[in-house]
Amino acid sequence: MDDSDVAAVVEALRADLLTTGPRVEAFERALAERLGVKHVVAVSNGTAALHAAYHAAGVGPGDQVVVPAITFLATANAARFLDAEPRFADVGAEDGLLGPGALEQALAAAGPVRAVVPVHLTGRPADLEGIGAAARARGAVIIEDACHALGARYRGAPIGACSHSDAAVFSFHPVKHVTTGEGGAIATNDSTLALRARRFRSHGMVHDAASLEAPSPGPWYYEQQELGFNYRLTDLQCALGTSQLRRLDAFLGRRRALAARYDALLQGVPHVRPVGAGPAGAESAWHLYAVLIDFASVGRSRAAVMQALRDRGVGTQVHYIPVPAQPYYRRRGADPERFPGARGYYERTLSLPLFPAMSDADPERVVAALREVLAG
Ligand SMILES: *Cc1c(COP(=O)(O)O)cnc(C)c1O
Repeated sequence: MDDSDVAAVVEALRADLLTTGPRVEAFERALAERLGVKHVVAVSNGTAALHAAYHAAGVGPGDQVVVPAITFLATANAARFLDAEPRFADVGAEDGLLGPGALEQALAAAGPVRAVVPVHLTGRPADLEGIGAAARARGAVIIEDACHALGARYRGAPIGACSHSDAAVFSFHPVKHVTTGEGGAIATNDSTLALRARRFRSHGMVHDAASLEAPSPGPWYYEQQELGFNYRLTDLQCALGTSQLRRLDAFLGRRRALAARYDALLQGVPHVRPVGAGPAGAESAWHLYAVLIDFASVGRSRAAVMQALRDRGVGTQVHYIPVPAQPYYRRRGADPERFPGARGYYERTLSLPLFPAMSDADPERVVAALREVLAG
């Protein structure tokens, strides 16, 4: 947060409308412009954005939604909210990403699949061309979970332009690139999908005369034509979002520079390999700086390494536990043994500190601590 963020929120606090006001539309417009996409629907968090996008894309009871085995829980859970079932696909053991091969396998095993949801893990775009071809051949829509990837680019277009998908979903949780405290958005070029997401955000209510099922008896009239939620984002939050969005390039530049510093410092550190910037033709948004560490050959557990780093003032994290290994999904029949790629990635991954306020000297401190800890 800087003074411009604080000033934007203070101004919004003194405005007439605290929610459903002009700052929501302004944030949606600013984000749409930034992404190069026709429609943006702002909602209360990234999970709500996934829920609304799946619903708007037609996911319903009994449908299947393909999601990678390595992702945040919400990618899978949003299918369950709609009485649909996630169908997990394995990821690459070296990159943690869903690819066309594993998607083909998941599609072959599944019944009819309504949607495929690639996740741009750590900010690296997944292979949207390959995934798109496989998904469309089966009549499935493509919804990108782009919660790590605001500012990423794929084949010349921003992630969120939806040049290879039907919709993309973002989160504005404080750990993400820009924050509204809590917040999320759906980006799409499909006006019907945008309209359905917009209605879902506010109880399924319809106000505009042209869309009503009955003749309108007067200006108070509205119809609920389907079930919706209260997933609105406030004007206070959107004021913060618009202000933060102006600083996105600075945030991205800083993340990129810190990642480059890590890349250089980690060269030749035994047992450690950065997952990198992603495939050729793609630019990572550097949400996370993840490395793969062969803990077996190091001879120390990941828990011990993380604790030793913590003792040296370095916080690390694991993104993510394979979702099919969660008790909830095991009870629904998921078998984590069927995802060797996810297990291989999960067992070795570690996210090093990465945030714009880090100093130039911080990556050196982190890598020095890591060298020391891994040397035993
Ligand atoms: C953050 C995140 C979400 C959920 O967003 P919230 O705003 O926390 O609800 C979903 N998927 C991924 C990959 C995320 O990183």
